[in-house]
Amino acid sequence: MTLAYVGLGANLGDPRRTLAEAILELGHLVGCAVTRQSSLYRCAPLGTTAQADFINAVVGLETTLEAELLLDQLQAIENRHGRQRPFSGAPRTLDLDLLLYGDVQLSTPRLTVPHPRMHERAFVLQPLLELDPVISLPVKGLASVLLRACSGQKIARIE
Ligand code: ATP
Ligand code: CA
Ligand code: CA
Repeated sequence: MTLAYVGLGANLGDPRRTLAEAILELGHLVGCAVTRQSSLYRCAPLGTTAQADFINAVVGLETTLEAELLLDQLQAIENRHGRQRPFSGAPRTLDLDLLLYGDVQLSTPRLTVPHPRMHERAFVLQPLLELDPVISLPVKGLASVLLRACSGQKIARIE
């Protein structure tokens, strides 16, 4: 069993409903159980394109799936929710990123773990810290310290 962390995000359609459904679907994957689930967060988009705020969350997933097989399943769930990629950074019905896979570091043409931009994103670090306040990222260090450098990013926990 490996404890993986998956980041969820959406800003098209009905993001809160989509995230709730996606979390259920993650739990129903063969060899996977959702063991931790953060609050939902409303987050201003980071890119240059004007687009709606995101709803973001992070879940902890105990899994027997190898990392690339887990990515396949994440992409299948995205596709079932109508994910399209018209351009990089486009608004999306559902984005599922594999943030961490235990303490594994790997890089293949399809998959880099830890997720290469997670350490600079408040919408990842803050919900992740809710699940594990002392979590450390391989190479990058304590998530709590990394979050301090993201103070310019607008993020609000949804009650
Ligand atoms: P970002 O990666 O900056 O969050 P994004 O989520 O919008 O951007 P996508 O279009 O969803 O990017 O993904 C592009 C590609 O990233 C995917 O086809 C996938 O193969 C690859 N990828 C590499 N590492 C990961 C990872 N850790 N989790 C999810 N996808 C990854
Ligand atoms: Ca992403
Ligand atoms: Ca993605």
